[in-house]
This record gives sequence, structure tokens and C-alpha cells, in this order.
Amino acid sequence: MGNGEVDVRLFVPLARLTPPRQSLSAEDQGYLVRVRRLRAGDPFEVFDGKGGRYPAIVDAGLQTATLGPRQPDTAPAALSLELWQGMPKSDKLELVIQKATELGVARLVPLVTRHAVGRLDPERLPKRLERWNRIAAEAARQSGRSDVPDILPPSGFDAFLTRASGAPAALVYEGEAEGSLWAFLSSRAAHASPGTIVVLAVGPEGGFAPEEVDAARRAGIPLLSLGERILRTETAAIVVCALVLAASGGFE
Ligand code: SAM
Repeated sequence: MGNGEVDVRLFVPLARLTPPRQSLSAEDQGYLVRVRRLRAGDPFEVFDGKGGRYPAIVDAGLQTATLGPRQPDTAPAALSLELWQGMPKSDKLELVIQKATELGVARLVPLVTRHAVGRLDPERLPKRLERWNRIAAEAARQSGRSDVPDILPPSGFDAFLTRASGAPAALVYEGEAEGSLWAFLSSRAAHASPGTIVVLAVGPEGGFAPEEVDAARRAGIPLLSLGERILRTETAAIVVCALVLAASGGFE
């Protein structure tokens, strides 16, 4: 990391944070001491997943760390993305979670639609959710974020329509669209108060079903294009995240 910043970062959820003396779990110690080879007195950074970051020093005995004061929060981006991602095959969803986190997504909801191929056995949901949120935390750590996006349980298209009725929203659609997603985002970012949530849905490999597109139209949710090329669902998700970040000045 640039300008003398520490490059070893550790996620300690806010609920577990006990500044100024922080006990290190066995997993924390494994990462700091065995993986990153820190020793007593070495500096690192703790982030709490809710925007807080703290300078930290490994204590003698390697069981605890001493935390400094919470650092000032970075200013929120103009737009904050809530991505409803048409359920792809599980490894693709994990790729989308990782890349969306690196690109600043605030919340991700796996979207179960008619053509979604990623079906989930309810028994396996708790373990899957834990894995997805762990992937998000690791991507936040690696990319320097101090907040960790929430990966929520899979929800259906009706839940998306309800959610979209309460925020600036759009269906990202490769068919007959009303405009471009970029124009939609640029205009909103220009007038939005920082942290304005935008709710965007990307279809699965098989696309949105006609009745889903019609339902979005009837609900007044704009259908917006990413241009001429037909992108794979995971590509479209990454492009959507990058466009939201670009509209918010996140690449400057
Ligand atoms: N109809 C597509 C096809 O013929 O392969 C299937 C859907 S596409 C693979 C997956 C999703 O990515 C779409 O549902 C849409 O949300 C998004 N997408 C891909 N290309 C797009 C584009 N040019 N404009 C808007 N959305 C796009």
C-alpha cells in the first residue's frame, strides 16, 4: 500500500472489537503470525466491517494487540449499490461476490428468477451464507475497504419489485431498453446526496423471463442497457459495479 500505510489488515467484526486491548482469536493469530509472519511490536491495521479502521500493534505473547484510535471515516461515495444478482452456478456467484466487493458494492442479494440455474437446498443455506460473507470479508480486507458488504439470503423477483419501489432502481436488460445504465447513473450521481442507494438487478445466464420484464415495466422500473454486446451474467455484474463506482468518482 502507498504512503507508508501498513499492508497487513485484519477484520475484527464491530461486535467483537474491544479497544484498546484486542484479544486475537486462534484464526487471527494464525493469519498474523503464521501467514503474514508478524512479531511482537509489528504494526498492522484492524477494520471492523462497518467503516472503522484502527492502527494496531501486536503485543508480546502474540495473544492480543493494542489498538489506536478509530481513524476518520472516508467520505461516502455518491452512490451506494445494492446488487440483485440473478443466481448463476455457485462458483460464478462467488466470483461476483468477490469482484463486486472489490468494486464497492454495499449489499448483494442473490436473485432467484424463473431462469436462474443456481438453486439452493434450504438445508445448505446457512453454510453457503457463511461462505459468501467470508468471501466478501476477505475481498474487503484485500482491497483496503473498512466496510464489508452484506450478502443476504436469496430472494425472489417479487421481493426485488418491492425493494425497487422504494429506491432509485433499474433492471439491467439486454433487450428493448429505455436508455443506458451509464446515463441513469451519471445523472443520479450528479444530484445524489452521498451514500444514495441504487438498486440494480442483473439477470442469470438465461436472462429475465418475459413476465419478469413485463412486471418491471408495469412497476415503472426502467430497463437499462449496457450497450450492444451480450455479456455473461458475471461480466454484466462486474460492469454494473464498475459503472456505479465510476459514476461516484471512485476511479479518480
Ligand atoms: N439474453 C441473454 C443471451 O441471449 O445470452 C441471456 C442473458 S445475459 C447472458 C445475462 C444478464 O446480463 C442479462 O439478463 C442482463 O441482466 C445482463 N446483460 C448482458 N448483456 C447486457 C447488455 N448488453 N445490456 C444490458 N444487460 C445485459
